[in-house]
Amino acid sequence: MPCSITDMTKIVLASRNAKKIGELRTLLSALGDIEVLSLDDVGFHGDIVEDGNSFAENALIKARVGTQFGYIGIADDSGLTVDALGGAPGIFSARYAGEHASDEANNEKLLDALKDTPDGARDAHYVAAVACVFPDGRSFVVQERCDGVIIRDARGENGFGYDPYFYIPEKGKTFAEMSAADKHKMSHRGKAMRRFLKIFEYYREVSDVNE
Ligand code: IMP
Repeated sequence: MPCSITDMTKIVLASRNAKKIGELRTLLSALGDIEVLSLDDVGFHGDIVEDGNSFAENALIKARVGTQFGYIGIADDSGLTVDALGGAPGIFSARYAGEHASDEANNEKLLDALKDTPDGARDAHYVAAVACVFPDGRSFVVQERCDGVIIRDARGENGFGYDPYFYIPEKGKTFAEMSAADKHKMSHRGKAMRRFLKIFEYYREVSDVNE
């Protein structure tokens, strides 16, 4: 069966979050022979409207942009879900305190929303969906999560977003107190990327067989 994939060596990473691009580049470097391009590299300067109803839908919407340029598109959509808040901020994590809100503003809103929630009821989960769309229209998405609790006072300087408040009881640390490598051993994005890479390699092998 002929395969219409023409260039399996270039990926467009559809994210504008510099810290996330850095994290994803590191995780994708496991592929070795793949060139990772940003939206700027391919000359896409428009806005991507993330109007899906789930992490997976939004990841697919973003990943499709890469295929407009004839390359493989990869994107992640991630966020924090807090049980006591009915799953909020969820898919709205980046803009919880408003469009283009800073991490500080989002964290302030989160702490305020949880101020009356007792210590035993502050369970939270980071969720990451990673989507891949090939120029021939094939696609897949993987989703993983990482469990923790939201603490009241910031701890640590690393990471980004809600990390200083996302505490992993088994480690006795927040994500912001971990090195990037330690964070990704257990993070939602690290777990999703590792599963993603296995499936991605399978797709590449299939296309090799069909060449
Ligand atoms: P996205 O860029 O639309 O996927 O939004 C992701 C948002 O979820 C970020 O802006 C953060 O607010 C939050 N988030 C997702 N993953 C992480 C993480 O690993 N650390 C801290 N915040 C995260």
